[in-house]
Amino acid sequence: MRFAPVFPGLFLLLVVFTDANALDIASLGDPRPSRWSLDHSGQLDQATLNALDELGQRVRSDTGHELVVVAVTSTDGESQRKLGMRLFNRWEIGNRARHDGVLLFVALGDRRVEFILGDGVDENRHVAISQEIVDQDMLPRFRRGDPNGAVLAGARAAARRLLGLPDVIATPQVAADVVSVREQPRIVADPVKVEEPLVERDPATATALRPAVSPPTTYPVSAPSAPTQSEPGWGWFGLAGAGGGGVVGFLMWRRWLRNRPRNCERCQQPMVRLGEHADDQHLDHGQVVEERIGSVDYDIWCCTACSNVVKLRYGAWFTRYARCPRCRAVTKSSNETTLIAATYDHGGQVRVDEACVACDYRNTYTRSTPQKTRPSTGNRSGISIGGFGGGRSGGRSGGGRSSGRGGGGGW
Ligand SMILES: [Zn+2]
Ligand SMILES: [Zn+2]
Repeated sequence: MRFAPVFPGLFLLLVVFTDANALDIASLGDPRPSRWSLDHSGQLDQATLNALDELGQRVRSDTGHELVVVAVTSTDGESQRKLGMRLFNRWEIGNRARHDGVLLFVALGDRRVEFILGDGVDENRHVAISQEIVDQDMLPRFRRGDPNGAVLAGARAAARRLLGLPDVIATPQVAADVVSVREQPRIVADPVKVEEPLVERDPATATALRPAVSPPTTYPVSAPSAPTQSEPGWGWFGLAGAGGGGVVGFLMWRRWLRNRPRNCERCQQPMVRLGEHADDQHLDHGQVVEERIGSVDYDIWCCTACSNVVKLRYGAWFTRYARCPRCRAVTKSSNETTLIAATYDHGGQVRVDEACVACDYRNTYTRSTPQKTRPSTGNRSGISIGGFGGGRSGGRSGGGRSSGRGGGGGW
């Protein structure tokens, strides 16, 4: 078991740069593969960095491309684009054959943002798209003092529009939930849950269940008092058992079970369910992260008469996250890198990098892959996932090159 030395590295950088006059990119530690963001400015929230790491991991594992975000305070007079390009080529972001990396480089103190595109993704249309992302998704947020929202929105738009990551969707904004201008990341990895929108997001029924006054003042309760209950889940067994046309009915029934009105067990008075953001204060850190990445959803029901609070847990049926051995949340992701490709003559070796998005758990190990057997018909490798020749397998990281093209702007 080996833990990536990310945190000691960051600490060292802070010490080294206390009295530094110029930004030396040689001292910026490549966060990959356990992380995909580096905040040298110290101005971005941990939640933002976690979301960026999560996004980068998804880009890497789902498309084979690479998206890295670096924030610094200042380049100390050097052109941000040139410095970003040097950093890109030093870290060799993207695959060596496809040059499909993207670096989002932000100098917060210089008020400047640059997309540095790999040579395989820097056609005019890519440059135009990255410029659009800067102009539409990033600069307005920077200008209203929301660097976290700007960087996150830019990275997510880049993942979707430049690197072809399909399922990054924005949180539908419900009027009562708009408490800040900051965009809340919500990455849904679960197709079933898309079919089952929460009642809170459904305007037709939301008014019936939403507390009229803000929940914290109306129902003052302490989070630890609410035990977590798991609703009966039939999972695959139920899905299979329901069979053919029964699946839809089963899903509707399951949805009704979750959304049905409830009465308090203690005093028999009606309960109300808290909204997506209001319920966060009843969840611990791991549970908030689980909700954000979509591996588990929680419903918090509060009694309208007494202080009873019930926390219900709904695990996603389809999620790429596993339970973290350290913090016990369903927040551990695994990223595989082929070290030795399996051939028809010998087996291969794969490095597995595990990282928890809720705590600092990191683990790396290698495992063997079986020797390939010759297919009777043509094999299926080489199916393109991304828009420009990216493959799911990805292969060894690094080797990507950039000539420094890409959109950029100042605020
Ligand atoms: Zn009650
Ligand atoms: Zn963890």
